[in-house]
Amino acid sequence: MKVIKNFIGGQFYDAVSNNFLDNVTPSSGLVYGTIPDSDEEDVALAVTAAKNAFPLWSQTSLDLKFQILNRISDLINENLEALALAESIDNGKPLWLARRVDIPRAASNFQFFATALKHYASESYLNPPNVISTTLRQPIGIVGCISPWNLPLYLFTWKIAPAIAAGNCVIAKPSEVTPMTAFLLAQICKDAGLPDGVLNILHGTGPKVGSAIVEHPMIKAISFTGGTATGQQIIRTAGPMFKKLSLELGGKNASIIMDDCDYGLMMKETVRSSFANQGQICLCTSRLLIHESIYDKFKADFTSIVGKMTVGNPLDESIKIDQGAIVSEMHYNKVLNAIQRARDEGGTILSGGAKVVLDGELENGFYIRPTIIEGLGPETRTNQEEIFGPVVTLQKFSTKEEALALANASKYGLATVIWSRNTDHIHFLSQGLESGIVWINCWLVRDLRTPFGGIKQSGIGREGGWDAMKFFTEVKSITQVIPKS
Ligand code: NDP
Repeated sequence: MKVIKNFIGGQFYDAVSNNFLDNVTPSSGLVYGTIPDSDEEDVALAVTAAKNAFPLWSQTSLDLKFQILNRISDLINENLEALALAESIDNGKPLWLARRVDIPRAASNFQFFATALKHYASESYLNPPNVISTTLRQPIGIVGCISPWNLPLYLFTWKIAPAIAAGNCVIAKPSEVTPMTAFLLAQICKDAGLPDGVLNILHGTGPKVGSAIVEHPMIKAISFTGGTATGQQIIRTAGPMFKKLSLELGGKNASIIMDDCDYGLMMKETVRSSFANQGQICLCTSRLLIHESIYDKFKADFTSIVGKMTVGNPLDESIKIDQGAIVSEMHYNKVLNAIQRARDEGGTILSGGAKVVLDGELENGFYIRPTIIEGLGPETRTNQEEIFGPVVTLQKFSTKEEALALANASKYGLATVIWSRNTDHIHFLSQGLESGIVWINCWLVRDLRTPFGGIKQSGIGREGGWDAMKFFTEVKSITQVIPKS
């Protein structure tokens, strides 16, 4: 049994209440460990530790901060195998995917912000003849970072790294269903020399310890990634307290496939963008919009490829597993219900649409075949609500104007992909799309210097590059009039 503990002031503790929650691996549905069931008492201890650490950390030299963040990055890389294994066991994603994407990207987050803090600058403006205005950006103090289960270490570190780089102390909470990599990160930060109390990690449920973090008056900013409904709840609590908020929320991303695209590349990447991590990436494309002239060919080719995808034990490296397990029993049932609803709405299942039962110890694991659905209009719940699983719909369009209208027919605006080699089409679509991120002829290519996040109900307080560090600062404008001599 893996016993996970909270990390407060550089030490490992059980919850004050001494209550525990089971940690289940989705590949078998079996309990493999416990986590502390933390609450407001643990938040209070973490806040005290962070408060004690803040005066020194906020005044620590850039050189030392740079060294510590880089060391954390190096140690993540050195512990890649252990972290990838933990992530795969916790989350159900294929081990190769955790090893290739999640863990290296978590290391990159610390490396990027180690460098960013060295180049971070305030602005200064001269208004002749004698007025100088400058901005002074100072760390906020204690900030809260709450992250989801789909890319556990990557999204957790995407918040923590800029927060501590900007000189803050952090109270962080990973999802209760994927706690293991956060627990390992605590030891890595300790080994890297991060002073006690700069990072505090609490485990437990969202409604209990998550909301206690949001409610605590000393925690002045909340960086949250998760579902839109949870984001709304956080706004209701933190808004009246005037906390700074960055909310990265849900999506219902479209991929627009024009008939002039590089067909082979588009097909390969569309399979990936639809089903990577069992479709449980906020940036996955779940609505495929296809030009009518290639619709039938696309449908036949896509269905054939997806029908051959392997679904199996995420830890099995004897064959290439394309799809592992869905993260939890609750989410598994939610995805299966969404597939049933698509049938009820009149959709046709072209591929998948069913659970997969594996043999032996894995028979109670949470596996679903990648699923393709056609025949549903943009107004259906299937095309409106986030499913966040291995489920995509196909829709047909005849003009680029129609493609744009279909892509924008959503309350979300996170990421959209355009497949085309026609620059007129690309410009028309990328300018008209109501989407925080637009990928043209690619998917999931990230440059950490660019803002990340969505618009509409996909989020507020977009972060990226310097902006991610700016979010974790308070800004002062200082204006000085130089007396005439
Ligand atoms: P949730 O909103 O359920 O949970 C996200 C985090 O918030 C978890 O740590 C959760 O804890 C915690 N939480 C839950 N309720 C509260 C609360 N009342 N107060 C404070 N914290 C709370 O999302 P999921 O974990 O299910 O993640 C999937 C969602 O995340 C999808 O909608 C997806 O689109 C979105 N997402 C968005 C991304 C983006 O960049 N825009 C990136 C990745 C995912 P616990 O799990 O322990 O209950």
